[in-house]
Amino acid sequence: MDGLTLKGNKVNKHKVGIKPVNPEILTMSHAEWWDKGKELFGEDFNKWRFVCAHCGEVQTMEDFAEAEIEKGNQKVFFSCIGREVVGRGCDWTLGGFFQIHTAEVIKGDGTKVPVFRFDDNAGKETTK
Ligand SMILES: [Zn+2]
Repeated sequence: MDGLTLKGNKVNKHKVGIKPVNPEILTMSHAEWWDKGKELFGEDFNKWRFVCAHCGEVQTMEDFAEAEIEKGNQKVFFSCIGREVVGRGCDWTLGGFFQIHTAEVIKGDGTKVPVFRFDDNAGKETTK
C-alpha cells in the first residue's frame, strides 16, 4: 500500500483556501517520511523537493543554500522560500496560526510536526 501519497490531490496554485482543519492529513512516522523521500529523490536530502502547502511552490534545500538562508534544512519542509526570496512562492510557514498542512510527521517523542508534502510528480515530468 502506498499510503504516503494521495494521488490527484496536488496543491494547485491560487486555488488553496485557508482551512483550519484539513480532513486529508497524511500522517507518517519519521522513518516512513525518510524512506519516502529517499524513494522519490534519492539519498541526498539537498535534492528533496517539497511543495508549499499554500502556494504550491516547489523548493529544495539547494534553493535555500543558494539563497544563503540559514537553517534551510529546517525550513525547506516547513516555510515557503518566498519568506526569504523575493519573486518566489509566498510567505507561508506551517508554524502560523492557520493550519493548512496536509502532511505531518510523528517524531520520536510522539509529537506531530506539520510538513510540506513531497513533490511526488518529480521524475514524471521532463525537467532540464
Ligand atoms: Zn508558498
